[in-house]
Order: sequence, then C-alpha cells, then structure tokens
Amino acid sequence: MECLFCKIAEKKRSAKIIYEDDLAVAFEDINPQAPVHTLVIPKKHISTNLDLRHEDNDLIGHLFQVANKIAKDKGIADRGFRLVMNCNPESGQTVFHIHLHMLGGRIMHWPPG
Ligand code: 5GP
Ligand code: ZN
Repeated sequence: MECLFCKIAEKKRSAKIIYEDDLAVAFEDINPQAPVHTLVIPKKHISTNLDLRHEDNDLIGHLFQVANKIAKDKGIADRGFRLVMNCNPESGQTVFHIHLHMLGGRIMHWPPG
C-alpha cells in the first residue's frame, strides 16, 4: 500500500519528526499555513475519520494529548491554537491517512475558508 504518512511513520520518507511514541508520530507540515503547523498522525493506517472504529477511541484521544503537549512545548498553548482534521475531498483532505493539523502562532479566522 502506497501511503505517504505510513512511509513517514516507518522512516521510509523523510520528515521533520518532532515527537514519536508507540502509537503516534508528529512532524512539521511541508507547506505550513501558520508559524506553527504540525501534523499528528497515528502509526496505524486509518484512511479517514469515517473509518474510525470503537477500538480506536483511545488512539484518537492520544492524538489530542500529543497535540496538547506540542502546543505547550512550542509555547502557544495559552495564546491558542487550532486542531483540524479534514475528512474526504470537499473538506480539503488530500492525504488519506488521518492526521490532526495543529496550527498556531497567529490569529486564526472564523469561519475557516
Ligand atoms: P490534508 O489536506 O489531507 O488535510 O492535509 C495534508 C497535509 O499534509 C497538507 O497540509 C500538506 O502540506 C501535508 N503534506 C503533504 N505531503 C507531505 C509530505 O511529504 N511531508 C510533510 N511533512 N507534509 C506533507
Ligand atoms: Zn497510512
């Protein structure tokens, strides 16, 4: 299976990895949309949010905890940050391995584009 983010998780494709544990990897987005733009992914391949199973509930919670840690480590937790997970093409999803976008370091606008 050709999956870009599985390859990053398996170190078969280079990325600026800033966090890793048994379940998750976080790395800098190649095309950042904010001063902080980190992607948090599970090591397990899950194509979209719609493919989550009940057994993945703890894993998803863990991704949010990792995002919190990175926001704190980067010093943007108190200022604020945005977590985004796109699902399917109309949302803008282009990589079909779920990922949390952790965006911060600037004022975010609402509604999102
Ligand atoms: P999506 O549009 O699927 O929600 O987000 C995919 C994100 O992955 C985009 O923000 C894009 O810039 C990023 N991305 C795509 N390919 C690569 C890559 O090879 N390396 C890294 N670090 N980020 C990537
Ligand atoms: Zn994958």
